[in-house]
Amino acid sequence: MPGFEDALKTRFGAGYALCLNSATSALHAACHGVGLGDGDLLWTSPNSFVASANCALYCGADVDFVDIDPLSRNMSVTALEQKLETARKAGRLPKAVIPVHFGGLPCDMPAIWNLARTYGFRVIEDASHAVGASIGAEPTGNCKFSDATVFSFHPVKIVTTAEGGVVMTNDPDIARNVELFRSHGVTRNADRMDPRAPQEPWSYHQVQLGYNYRMSDLHAALGSAQLQRLDEFIARRRDIARTYDAAFRDLALGLPVEPSGFRSSYHLYPISLPKPDFGRRREIFDAFRSQGILVNVHYIPIHTQPYYLDLGFDWGDFPVAEDYYRGAITLPLHPSMSDADVNRVIDVVRSICAN
Ligand SMILES: *Cc1c(COP(=O)(O)O)cnc(C)c1O
Repeated sequence: MPGFEDALKTRFGAGYALCLNSATSALHAACHGVGLGDGDLLWTSPNSFVASANCALYCGADVDFVDIDPLSRNMSVTALEQKLETARKAGRLPKAVIPVHFGGLPCDMPAIWNLARTYGFRVIEDASHAVGASIGAEPTGNCKFSDATVFSFHPVKIVTTAEGGVVMTNDPDIARNVELFRSHGVTRNADRMDPRAPQEPWSYHQVQLGYNYRMSDLHAALGSAQLQRLDEFIARRRDIARTYDAAFRDLALGLPVEPSGFRSSYHLYPISLPKPDFGRRREIFDAFRSQGILVNVHYIPIHTQPYYLDLGFDWGDFPVAEDYYRGAITLPLHPSMSDADVNRVIDVVRSICAN
């Protein structure tokens, strides 16, 4: 595992890389690492996988969401600033915010990091989709604009270890905390041991509560091999995205955007149907599937999941994310697709749109 962690540090330019057995564990560990606990508050994007929010609940904190920007589909910085202002007046600011780089497009991290300094919250990037993305010269994962960044190495993600995740950080306190947290809170490191317990050659001290969240060496070896191919994977993903962009430019579809200075890793290529067609999304989804195109939908807004409805959220709470969801269809995009595969997707999209 140390070999893979060193490779991650070198590749993304963070001071520490701590591998765990999933990004979900990594988010849990990072939340704990920034001190999130009972009664604290965490905000994230409703347009994400449930793990982006659940990690706060694991720590005993409360969750709330910040609506998205309709074009980037990422957490809206304007909505975040307004919600922070309201929260400041009400005396309940979030302890941490988790921006999610949806589809591989980084959130506006310089702006979010500025707000973090103004309002005093910690920032954990959920970069599960954004291995290989960047803002200007700053690769996602160097934590220039955050306290910690989490990558997922699940099989559907850009780089895989079969299952796995990592916490990248420059903060030695977060790194130390995550290292203990992923391994039962147990240390054999002499300078972390507690003077109240005996220090024998066989000693190990449990100094906090932790979990069995370690990544195995076998999984890390897979990751090392995959990481060497990252540039190749991203180049092909970007190539397919550019081909889709050009092929769909004249259609009445919302396409992924890439604001100047931002470089997406194109984990996903979600298209948005125009509002009048929201009612036909199911029919259009079925039409793709019946022609053998494995489309998908990302994401059902987290706050509309039954568990979150039980927590008091409701449809209508985050209308931009809900409208985005109502028209969303994710097209296939994978580096293993041939040009013929890509052209077939294009033909089917164009034929469906013609009807
Ligand atoms: C995949 C994913 C996760 C969880 O990743 P695992 O490695 O499967 O735990 C978390 N957040 C987002 C945005 C994801 O896409």
